[in-house]
Amino acid sequence: MSHSSSQVITCKAIVCWGKEEPLKVEEIQVEPPKSSEVRVKILCASLCHTDILSTRGFPMPLFPRVMGHEGVGMVESIGEEVDGLKQGDIVIPTYVAECQTCESCTSGKTNLCLKYPLALDCLMLDGTSRMSIKGQSLYHTFSCATWSEYMVINANYVVKVDPSIALSHASFLSCGYSTGFGAAWKEAKIEEGSTVAVFGLGTVGLGVVEGARIQGATKIIGIDKNTRKNEKGKVFGMTDFINPDDSDKPICESVRDLTDGKGVDYSFECTGVAPLLNEAIESTKVGIGKTILIGAGDHLSLQINFLPLLCGRTLKGCIFGGLKTISDVPILLEKCRNEEIHLDELLTHEVQLEDINKAFQLLKQPDCVKVLVKI
Ligand SMILES: [Zn+2]
Ligand SMILES: [Zn+2]
Repeated sequence: MSHSSSQVITCKAIVCWGKEEPLKVEEIQVEPPKSSEVRVKILCASLCHTDILSTRGFPMPLFPRVMGHEGVGMVESIGEEVDGLKQGDIVIPTYVAECQTCESCTSGKTNLCLKYPLALDCLMLDGTSRMSIKGQSLYHTFSCATWSEYMVINANYVVKVDPSIALSHASFLSCGYSTGFGAAWKEAKIEEGSTVAVFGLGTVGLGVVEGARIQGATKIIGIDKNTRKNEKGKVFGMTDFINPDDSDKPICESVRDLTDGKGVDYSFECTGVAPLLNEAIESTKVGIGKTILIGAGDHLSLQINFLPLLCGRTLKGCIFGGLKTISDVPILLEKCRNEEIHLDELLTHEVQLEDINKAFQLLKQPDCVKVLVKI
């Protein structure tokens, strides 16, 4: 393919045409970047459970949409107002950004920047798209759209990656694993000696386990219906395992059995299964316990049991584990470079971009953790 950086590129991408429709490989057009944007040649991508929700219309039923939000690529061209990035830089696209000046960024309390918000409208900041098919505009997936040979993103939403980092690792750090790790590190701010329960040992849950281990938690209880996750969880630092199918007890009672009847300091709901949020809350200590909600579900509301929350417990939601793109993600990338985290252990399957529907089938299998997509 030959083109100059100011031209429209025609390339392959995965498009979802409507709610729960099978994904299609399409030839699409990707415009050059505008002033504060970069065009990225995606080198490798991966799947996250939120991608399944996206095909069902999460966060909004916006179709046709170029799919994917995990990936890593190389900057192909830059808008005239972009600084700090150049052609050839390796970057991960993200769906959060950090302006470092707004009320939220300076509060030290959240990663949800007001100037560069989560793109729930699945368009660029100016409300338009850079992707189209035969003249018809395509939605992006948040600010990302990584299952495409090329994509355009506002430069504030990318993080530069040291080229010595494996592309698969960089891709895994662009959403799921980082979300879990960040939830333990930045949202819960787990202290040394803490006790922790993690609901769901997929990529996000394993990220929580590893984050909790590095923060110095002494008891890390993993909960999953797949017994083989017992072995997997231990690699990341899990100390105890509960398979809810092995007992008639509510999960919160099994957690209490492992913590001298007290419950844990922190619990993390990573499954998006609504009733498990109450189990997660009731697994924590009275008066002290904190539950972090991470797992997205496609239910728009859920029921919280009144009394356990009233008894001094805290429930907190988060996006991208509370990680800030400038302040925090580079620290995580450094841990990856120093091999302090177990990203190799996440990879279970690899597919070509054209086989994306097969990747979705793989993702629904219990043993699947991470599917890498070769572009
Ligand atoms: Zn900000
Ligand atoms: Zn994700």
